[in-house]
Amino acid sequence: MNVYFDNAATTPLDPEVLEAMLPFLQTHYGNPSSIHGPGRQVRAAIENARKTVAHLINAAPAEIVFTSGGTEADNYAACGTVRTLGLRHGITSKLEHHAVLHTMQALEKSGEMQLSYLRHDAQGRLDLAHLEELLATNPRTFVSLMHANNEIGNLNDLAAIGEICARHQAVFHTDTVQTMGHYKHDVQQLPVNFLVGSAHKFHGPKGVGFLYRRAGQTVDALIQGGSQERNQRAGTENVYGIVGLAKALEIAYRDMDEHQRHIQALKDRFISKLRAEIAGVEFNGTSAEAGQSLYTVLSVSLPPSAFNEMLLFNLDINRVAVSGGSACTSGANAGSHVLSALGCDPARGTIRFSMSKYNTEAEVDYAVEQLAKMYA
Ligand code: PLP
Repeated sequence: MNVYFDNAATTPLDPEVLEAMLPFLQTHYGNPSSIHGPGRQVRAAIENARKTVAHLINAAPAEIVFTSGGTEADNYAACGTVRTLGLRHGITSKLEHHAVLHTMQALEKSGEMQLSYLRHDAQGRLDLAHLEELLATNPRTFVSLMHANNEIGNLNDLAAIGEICARHQAVFHTDTVQTMGHYKHDVQQLPVNFLVGSAHKFHGPKGVGFLYRRAGQTVDALIQGGSQERNQRAGTENVYGIVGLAKALEIAYRDMDEHQRHIQALKDRFISKLRAEIAGVEFNGTSAEAGQSLYTVLSVSLPPSAFNEMLLFNLDINRVAVSGGSACTSGANAGSHVLSALGCDPARGTIRFSMSKYNTEAEVDYAVEQLAKMYA
């Protein structure tokens, strides 16, 4: 059996999405900036995709800017806001994806802003009283805190964070790459200035994403050149990617309840089987706590063992594809900055199982069986 449990890294393309994309790789090849018929046909497809994405998150089409993915959207929101508004202070946490963390650190290094890190506990729960404190003494701040952590699955309370930011007139960007297409985001309800999506995390193609930018939020373009994306993002559009992204998000919203039930059941099965089969197994962050954790991600902490160095390799030769993570920060094995920030014991092994709608109970059983063999 070949098993793929690395869906937080990327998901397989949905065949329905491929079908929607194919005409734009074959017959509909016009440049969307051209004014002739073939160009206009392609332009219309991009604008329809924008309307679809906007409608799903309850935004206006003009608030959606297509990008090359989540990383670019995060960079664009952070650099664009800090530079355009001349903000002098940023807040993030050490648990963010590098797309945010390294961008914020680069803005600090260039002297454009000061950076503060929000405190969190050993499970990675953010200290919102600290956020209040930091904002009270630092007006004009750019805050970037993710919705769900890609390594440990912790879910942050966007409504609570957004409310604090709004009260202090801070600009709030949230990296929703891991939750877009898995939870329903409604920007009329959420007090956020920016949201992010990346198609390959919800069964769309790689290399395409979007930034939701609330109307009135001024941000200068990150990529200079032509006037594409209403002067917000230069470069000929990734047309088939954009069409695929919109289709993938439409399917994700259409089938969300069913998929959520299915995947949560797989996660529950993983947790109970691992507890039954492996003595001393634990879960990182709030990974095993329903309601506080992304239902697609389970971060497993394994007891110290001679096998821990070879965990991923051993699973891979048994045809189980997963991601690892280690708190070790030395040498070539740079380790996980998230597990290090949580102060995890480097002697323990970490495996991240991340699931999708395509996974089955039999695959969960097979993966647990392969892992349990190493700890027997
Ligand atoms: N943010 C988070 C939380 C992610 O998990 C990822 C991808 O792993 C990214 C940003 C980067 O997205 P992309 O691969 O589209 O650049």
